[in-house]
Amino acid sequence: MEDCLFCKIVAGEIPGDIVLETEHTVAFRDLNAQAPTHVLVVPRDHYANAAELAAADPAVSAELVTAAAAVAAEAGYDDYRLVYNTGTGVGQSVFHTHLHLLAGRPMTWPPG
Ligand code: AMP
Repeated sequence: MEDCLFCKIVAGEIPGDIVLETEHTVAFRDLNAQAPTHVLVVPRDHYANAAELAAADPAVSAELVTAAAAVAAEAGYDDYRLVYNTGTGVGQSVFHTHLHLLAGRPMTWPPG
């Protein structure tokens, strides 16, 4: 999609610190890391949020989770948090589905 930041990272048009690529996903480090490991896993195809992706392509939705687990395992973490923000009211700022993988520090619940 034109003017989508994460579509451009997937396409290689702007740089991303890519840590894993699978058939349908790309994982790259968040520019503004909130944990020692903070990686975004995105589908290669454009969907606005997690629910849109899950409705359109459940297999790729699952692939995001397995890719995130692989990144966590490669970094040596058994414990990690996965987050989808949906909507500006909870902080979504990029409207291309992305799964946040956070690991490497203690985390509280409920989240802020
Ligand atoms: P969200 O607020 O859930 O939409 O998450 C968007 C995330 O994208 C934020 O954590 C940003 O720090 C991150 N981000 C924005 N631009 C880039 C970029 N060019 N490369 C990597 N991460 C980015």
